[in-house]
Amino acid sequence: MSTLPTRPATADKSPSSIAEIETQRLRRRTFAIISHPDAGKTTLTEKLLLFGNSIEIAGAVRGRKSERTAKSDWMEMEQERGISVSSTALTFEFAGAQINLLDTPGHHDFSEDTYRTLMAADAAVMVIDLAKGIEAQTEKLFRVCALRKIPVLTFVNKVDRRGRSPLEIIDEIERKFSIEPVPQNWPLGSGEDFRGFIDLHDDSVHLFDEHRANRRISSKVVSWSDLETVEPAISSDLIDATGEEVELVRMAGASLEQSQFLSGAQTPVFFGSALTNFGIEHFLHGFLKLCPPPGSRNATEPPSPNFSGFIFKIQANLDPRHRDRVAFLRVCSGMFERDMEVTIARSMKKIRLARAFRIFGQDRQTIDEAYPGDIIGLVCPGEFRLGDTLCQNEIVHQEGLPQFSPEFFAVLDCTDTARRKQFDRGLKQLIEEGAIQVFHDAHTKRRENLLAAVGELQFDVVRYRLESEYNAPTSLSWRPYKLVRWFNATPEQKAKIRLPYSGKLALDQFGHDAVLLQSEWDVKALHRANPDIQFQEMRVAT
Ligand code: GDP
Repeated sequence: MSTLPTRPATADKSPSSIAEIETQRLRRRTFAIISHPDAGKTTLTEKLLLFGNSIEIAGAVRGRKSERTAKSDWMEMEQERGISVSSTALTFEFAGAQINLLDTPGHHDFSEDTYRTLMAADAAVMVIDLAKGIEAQTEKLFRVCALRKIPVLTFVNKVDRRGRSPLEIIDEIERKFSIEPVPQNWPLGSGEDFRGFIDLHDDSVHLFDEHRANRRISSKVVSWSDLETVEPAISSDLIDATGEEVELVRMAGASLEQSQFLSGAQTPVFFGSALTNFGIEHFLHGFLKLCPPPGSRNATEPPSPNFSGFIFKIQANLDPRHRDRVAFLRVCSGMFERDMEVTIARSMKKIRLARAFRIFGQDRQTIDEAYPGDIIGLVCPGEFRLGDTLCQNEIVHQEGLPQFSPEFFAVLDCTDTARRKQFDRGLKQLIEEGAIQVFHDAHTKRRENLLAAVGELQFDVVRYRLESEYNAPTSLSWRPYKLVRWFNATPEQKAKIRLPYSGKLALDQFGHDAVLLQSEWDVKALHRANPDIQFQEMRVAT
């Protein structure tokens, strides 16, 4: 805790500065992209930044990715950690708005990081490859969004390549996610016959021009009714077939409503091609119209003018030379000012925020002020925990960060008894950071370190860090569990709980009741055998 002088509290903010905070809030949009590797997230990010005048950054995005893929496994993990941690949010301006694109790791082994990062987003953009449809990682990430009621926009990518029929994709979204997909545009052909898209709002046809990949130029637009005459090179068969598809889409009758989108009942669907930079501008305009400003998703009135924010990620050793830890904070209300004094709601401890950065790769840029929706990296001396709320003047508790059902379980032991203390200290630290979860047997309470994570590589990270930072060598022994279901029950209910043969009753690191299970089949059996208990696949910390 610092004793240095602090800035005055925002309670004294003048009406003009309150108005400024509100103006800044309303012009911000904070979102994340969810996708399966190779669907085109990097390419889409690049093109979005191109529209936001951030061409240098766009290059850097690609640079980071090629660096990443060129490395060996271990290095790739390190590199991936670098990616997942070293950039906070890419920020760009478009049509008067400031758009914060949260950076999420692409590797599925770091999906827990991605899940948590989603908690800092006001909306998600789901990128689907037209040829591949909905893939495993996209499906998982969509479910996290649905559980947390994060509205999802869909971008169907690679329409310049031959893929599935757009109707098939629409149908797949509806079937798999029980959400109503509402197309906003419709591709005219695909693959070598790709000619453009029809804007379903005004029936204008935006004609494809493949020479615009890295330039911000608008496409030639003609009306659907004039298409055949103005563009005789486009075959009438293609026009007729597309017309029939559009007719079918219209007959399905869905029209997009903001409230339905925000509640997760509908997803607007945009077709485009990130690589050829086609459909991106149209998508961005649609995105701006739909994505809610920070703090207005579930709220009926504007957020308080007092500063508050929550920590959604803590990362150690971002810069190996400094061995520091960075806590990533999303501003929820009010204004962040460098050197301001805030209270950590959990501990009621006051702390001065002197070192706040925007972090990109190895570069850190000092931040003097930030507004709702912005992401800042705070260099923390060990004061923060994952999910902490920081606030000023009035104590608020933002909803905690959820714990996600892990997919890998293993017992971790220290192989050098002389380093046991350091091992315990290090592990405690890593658990607090959220690098790994831990479970204990509910009956024996034996102090066994049964660690659990969504991705397998998270175990390597933990072992590597215990060894390098705490000089504690470890051994790992895998356990066959694959899932966790948390539950709240009375002691009587708990005593009578019926578990599948291979299930295990456990307590998580916070002492919450959980069942460890080996398959989805076990989950079904658990539900069937205990109809009076509600089981959760995600637990919101309180
Ligand atoms: P990420 O793993 O999701 O970040 O995917 P990338 O953006 O790296 O894209 C994966 C591959 O798909 C790369 O070879 C891209 O050039 C290619 N790609 C991305 N978008 C498109 C597109 O719109 N059309 C075509 N034909 N290829 C694309």
